[in-house]
Amino acid sequence: MTKALKFIENSQKYIPYDLPDGASLYEEDFNTEVSCCSSGKKIKFNDSYTSRHIHTEDGIGYAECETCYFGEHNER
Ligand SMILES: [Zn+2]
Repeated sequence: MTKALKFIENSQKYIPYDLPDGASLYEEDFNTEVSCCSSGKKIKFNDSYTSRHIHTEDGIGYAECETCYFGEHNER
């Protein structure tokens, strides 16, 4: 399983995070179906956003669905 880091806003810290199968950093073909790094929902890479919370140790964000990307604002 691919390991990533998740930023927890409340504590301003990163924690280890297990990515769902199919999570993606980048696809050459934007029509490739990938899994949202947060919810695991299947989305076209073209419709994904770059997560600001879940990324590699180098700080590269994973593809995330619209719901999670915008929902993160409201996370308590
Ligand atoms: Zn999602």
